[in-house]
Amino acid sequence: MTAVFRLVGVVGAGAMGNGIAQLAAQAGSQVLLHDIRPGAADAGVAAITAQWNKLVAKERMGSAEAAACHSRLAAVASLASLQECDLVVEAIVERLDAKQALFAELESTLNSRAVLATNTSSLSVTAIAARLARPENVAGFHFFNPPPLMKLVEVVAGLKTDAAVCNRLADFTREMGHTAVMAKDTPGFIVNHAGRGYGTEALRIAGEGIADFATIDRVLREQVGFKLGPFELMDLTGLDVSQPVMEAIYHQYFEESRYRPSVIAAQRLAGGVLGRKSGKGFYDYPGGKQQCAAEPPPPAVNEIPPVWVSPRAARRSELLELLKSLHANMETGTSPSPQALVLVAPLGFDITTVAVVERLDPARTVGIDLMIDDAATRRRVLATNPATRLDMRDAAHALFARDGKPVSVIRDSGGFTTQRVVATIVNIASDICQQGISSPRDLEKAVTLGLGYPMGPLAMGDRYGPTNVLEVLFNMQTVYGDPRYRPSPWLRRRGAIGLSLTHEEN
Ligand code: NAD
Repeated sequence: MTAVFRLVGVVGAGAMGNGIAQLAAQAGSQVLLHDIRPGAADAGVAAITAQWNKLVAKERMGSAEAAACHSRLAAVASLASLQECDLVVEAIVERLDAKQALFAELESTLNSRAVLATNTSSLSVTAIAARLARPENVAGFHFFNPPPLMKLVEVVAGLKTDAAVCNRLADFTREMGHTAVMAKDTPGFIVNHAGRGYGTEALRIAGEGIADFATIDRVLREQVGFKLGPFELMDLTGLDVSQPVMEAIYHQYFEESRYRPSVIAAQRLAGGVLGRKSGKGFYDYPGGKQQCAAEPPPPAVNEIPPVWVSPRAARRSELLELLKSLHANMETGTSPSPQALVLVAPLGFDITTVAVVERLDPARTVGIDLMIDDAATRRRVLATNPATRLDMRDAAHALFARDGKPVSVIRDSGGFTTQRVVATIVNIASDICQQGISSPRDLEKAVTLGLGYPMGPLAMGDRYGPTNVLEVLFNMQTVYGDPRYRPSPWLRRRGAIGLSLTHEEN
């Protein structure tokens, strides 16, 4: 096997460096692993060998192949031993001065065509290369943790990087059996930038007291299909990891409001309430197991009042069909009778505003989120406004739970949980396209592989309707007066034709 890079040096034998060294050896390169800590590189080789032995035991790798990989891997005690390498990947401490000093030393040792790659998650590739004589040889080579299992690599071009260097790294990525996506050197590259919508908007919703953590998680899992709710995900990652990323991207974009972090997460980080690793996060973990209070059953209601549906409701005909299937007693008049439960289904607007604008009695008005087709969800979400009578809230809850589908009732807000989070994800992704950070195709791949979302953010926008997403954003901007909800120009332009990859712009 001849690999794109014959002799590869990996500097930093931590979680990432070891994984990268493993993959490079599997791809057919000779690999030299170095760490500044005495004994760390030897320990790295032992850990990688143990991984190969495990793969052999599980019959995922032949023993001859494992032996060949092992023969291609060695620990070295000095940087000088890397002088023949045609690629060196650094995965050392995440500090600009340390990475600059390392690359300066490597540049003076290695051959002039050798590629220097950095696994940095949050530093600028351009800045790491800035003091070198040959910045064109430097690129970002961003793996995800753990590298053997996370099949995505972001190949990042700094301002002066030679395109041929990125192409070789992308070829090498494919030899490792991974998927490469090309990114411009910008804060968070693709994945950590695109990931800003999910947790950040969920924290904002929790911070406004609209719903508790567990409800927000349930809604996003069961309406959109995320594997983990945003709070479960933050607990898994740990706020010591995710909060600094949120803060770094916000500051690197010069306090752009779209990425504004949450004081809730900052306070929890300060208090050591990190997530699973500290035994307590947004959930408790007695004995390492997530504890979550069971949902109360739907309220028992003797008689459900007649139901009147606003003519301006989103997906109105589907809502009428749904109510029919739930055996609701429907009113068909132009205005509700004095007994009626009044249903509205706004996009982006809060229930109070809708009741006021449509001149409805707020005490009897309840909202339902229909941005996503009811048939495509496993949960329904209702919202009250501060004036909603409890009997009306309970009647709506009982009615929509009649067929056994779970129902969450949240407090009034501009935009329901799903609308806000989906619109924010789609908007940030659109801005990534607007800035030309990656191609739409690579963005979709990066988000599905790197973040594990049920679909790419542009496909998500198309699935739920670009005009619906735009309407949510326009109305949220009105309700909140916050520029973070302003739609990206890319989304506004593509709103009419669709965001998906088949629609190329002229
Ligand atoms: P780690 O702390 O597990 O390992 C870093 C290793 O580098 C340590 O063994 C340390 O002794 C060694 N080291 C530090 N300075 C050195 C130097 N000057 N020369 C040689 N060795 C040196 O860290 P990690 O989690 O493997 O992260 C490494 C890099 O990868 C960082 O830049 C990090 O931002 C990036 N990264 C981490 C993750 C992740 O989830 N852990 C994901 C993607 C990228």
